[in-house]
Amino acid sequence: MKQIIPSECHLRVYVTAKQEVVEFFDNAIHMQYRHTFSYGESMIQLLENWQKDDEAILQETYEYLKERERVGEENMGEWNEILFRFQHVHNPFLYLLVMQLAPLLLKSFYNIDPSIVTDFRDELDKVRADAHTLLFDCLSPETEDIYRRYWEIWKRTPMRLPSVRTELLPARTRAAFNGWISPAENTDPEYLYSTEQQMVMAEVCYPKSVQELYVFLKSTYLRRAIRFKRCQLCGKLFAATGGDRTEYCSREYEKGKTCRDVGAARVYQKKLLGNPITRAYNRAYKTHNARIRYGTMTREEFNAWTAEAKKHRDACQNGEISLEAFEAWLKT
Ligand SMILES: [Zn+2]
Repeated sequence: MKQIIPSECHLRVYVTAKQEVVEFFDNAIHMQYRHTFSYGESMIQLLENWQKDDEAILQETYEYLKERERVGEENMGEWNEILFRFQHVHNPFLYLLVMQLAPLLLKSFYNIDPSIVTDFRDELDKVRADAHTLLFDCLSPETEDIYRRYWEIWKRTPMRLPSVRTELLPARTRAAFNGWISPAENTDPEYLYSTEQQMVMAEVCYPKSVQELYVFLKSTYLRRAIRFKRCQLCGKLFAATGGDRTEYCSREYEKGKTCRDVGAARVYQKKLLGNPITRAYNRAYKTHNARIRYGTMTREEFNAWTAEAKKHRDACQNGEISLEAFEAWLKT
């Protein structure tokens, strides 16, 4: 990608049933950079994965501005290197710093107050702290009533979204279209309808600050009241869009198989094998039942045996007698 200073840039964000899409428009190159995440993923990554990389690029930008301020002249080569890294960040929240810097850079490359970066970092830290409470407390599987908990934590703190519009959107965005793309082919309904894509109407946010981007995602999560859980297989955090009982995430666990695929197979295997106590009981039940047919046991005797066997089975399940003792009793 060519390294050109953006004269104008903006972010466009929307959330569909299963996806979060963040697009960074750079007018200087008439292109957009698209990030597609699964539902909840951008917030999870913000909390658990991006911090180290974010810190490195913010520090570098800070030092660049500080040095330019000191020397009193620009260094385009160095700045282009930083910008190139901004064009390939994992965390789309960082584009908001580029948006704040763009109009300043148009005027001058050397007398920009470096505190713009430290202020930005503070904002990002604040958002991370709030997101931590949102995901691990308010939207945790242990929270009984999400909205009541929301009220207890945030009370009258407003969630203001001044830059939200309602737009026509493709119902599903192919993750293969991530990266630098041409805007018209991906946002223009005229074009999208001509390619027979299914469209939905949804809210689209054009955030101007870290806070606004965060509040947009936060309000989406709260309105859908989806819980964030730890995957029982890989241990990573995920949004349980498959219902409250989902225990596995949809990340790839092994080649071509997600945690959900592998997890479901394990549950099925377990069911198939069954609990050894129930298995022993079922086997003995069948043998005794057959005795009625062969006439070696009356119906009454069988019923009495069943009642007794159930008592032993429950005692075994409660850990009062061992499996060996239970099996020995069944054989008598
Ligand atoms: Zn997983």
